[in-house]
Amino acid sequence: ATTDASLVHAWRARVAAAPTAPAVRYFDGVITAQEAEDRSNALAAALQSRGVQRGDRIGVYLQNVPAYPLLLLALWKLGATALVLNPMYRGQELRKLIDDSGACGMVCGDDAVDETRATVAGSTVLWILSSSPRHGQTRDDLRAFGSLDVGPVSPDGDLLALSEEFAGRRAAEPEVGLDDVALLAYTSGTTGPAKGAMNTHGNVLAVVRSYASWLALTPDDVVLAIAPLFHITGAVINCTIALLTGAPLVLAYRFQPEVVLEAFAEHEVTFTIGSITAFNAIYNLPQAGAEQFASVRALYSGGAPIPPSTVERFQERFGVYIHNVYGMTETTSATIAVPLRGRAPVHQPSGTLSVGVPLPGLRARVVDPFGHPVAHGEQGELELSGPQVVPGYWRKPEATEATMPGGRLRTGDGAIMDEQGWIYLVDRLKDQINVSGYKVWPREVEDALYEHPSVNEAAVVGRPDDYQGESVVAYVSLKPGRSADPDELRAFVRERIAPYKCPREVHLVEDLPKTQTGKIRRNVLRDPRD
Ligand code: ATP
Ligand code: MG
Repeated sequence: ATTDASLVHAWRARVAAAPTAPAVRYFDGVITAQEAEDRSNALAAALQSRGVQRGDRIGVYLQNVPAYPLLLLALWKLGATALVLNPMYRGQELRKLIDDSGACGMVCGDDAVDETRATVAGSTVLWILSSSPRHGQTRDDLRAFGSLDVGPVSPDGDLLALSEEFAGRRAAEPEVGLDDVALLAYTSGTTGPAKGAMNTHGNVLAVVRSYASWLALTPDDVVLAIAPLFHITGAVINCTIALLTGAPLVLAYRFQPEVVLEAFAEHEVTFTIGSITAFNAIYNLPQAGAEQFASVRALYSGGAPIPPSTVERFQERFGVYIHNVYGMTETTSATIAVPLRGRAPVHQPSGTLSVGVPLPGLRARVVDPFGHPVAHGEQGELELSGPQVVPGYWRKPEATEATMPGGRLRTGDGAIMDEQGWIYLVDRLKDQINVSGYKVWPREVEDALYEHPSVNEAAVVGRPDDYQGESVVAYVSLKPGRSADPDELRAFVRERIAPYKCPREVHLVEDLPKTQTGKIRRNVLRDPRD
């Protein structure tokens, strides 16, 4: 239970408790809680002077730089909504979200000025922050350009240094409450066009409080953001959770495995959460060793299935488990997680890893197509409700009604709940393959492929087949310097699972199609014209 009135209220309570404690770390730079409060006040005053009001959507088009958390705080102080945008988006991708959200302003780094101008020309207010590296991406470049100065630049390019014009000023702050929308975050677009989820102050607080209590997070923890802050996981349980619990937030511009690996040791990181792709990239670094993870007490991976063999390899080499966490953009990130202390990951007899149990406040059920709960151990659709679930999609009442009727979110994910309440995700319902009436879940086949030492990534899809309805087809990329041929991989899988589940075809590919957040897009493989 939380008595916080808004995110701003909760943030200010944290500042008052320890004003000189570090709030943000960026390479050698540190911003204390009080400095973050003062700078975000100045930023809010500057934004207000340019007309930003409660309820406005402002695009945040930045890498993981210190300006990011300051800007979120500034927008929340004004009751405005941060439209979090992938900094890799270009042209049309960007334009679509700006149009759909009706954003009236946009903040970008000075490395993205041309792209931003070209995309949002017209009525959009343009803000540029001088806090991102312009040249190169090496650690020294990042260090040199990781200036902590936040200076809005006018559209014609002169720097309006905050320190001069707005330092010490504070916006006239409107009344902001739990129902104000803090973040407008678009879904990953894995299964279709992305939809904007309206994450309210109440939603973000519910997730931050429930997950922080779950992890027993304290100001002695150190949180490393390896997820991009534009993603709901980055924004809420890398960034906001740190800001509100008082643990320093370590930022590293963007995910580069070597830089992130160094940050673990340098900042004595205790907690991070990211995608399995990120953990794989770290694993593949020859210089990675147990010593870099010495301070770590919680590593979580969410957003996509975790192959059990990856968890085992990681644990063997570094002495830490990657724990599973489940969340959606519509649930404001983490909502089901594996408890931390003293536990190895929980397996199903088949080897599938449990995503965990519901976090405090979340109600999870597994239901049949009519919405009735199925028995323990039986498969159905995961349905979630509680304070973590968004009130709806932005300007999409039909999609809201179809996906979360009466506040009960139909996740589209197949799941099983056991007697003890552990939840196992089966797969997205849409991804199930039907071979002559036998149901095949791609995950199980992929997990078998991942056990092969040469396999880097695997994706399994159904292909229409005149004779048996659908047939199982696998796409596989190999680890650098490793080899394996399709027949060998098929034989390998056949030793592990029933024959009807084994891929009829295995295609070796350089790389698998992914969303910008690193999720494998099975729909593209299913229908290569997509
Ligand atoms: P879109 O809704 O636009 O198709 P998306 O569903 O991939 O995209 P997100 O909200 O980022 O967008 O992802 C939520 C989905 O990610 C869940 O519905 C689930 O399928 C998957 N997911 C999340 N966590 C896990 C996990 N720990 N294991 C397996 N799958 C997961
Ligand atoms: Mg989805």
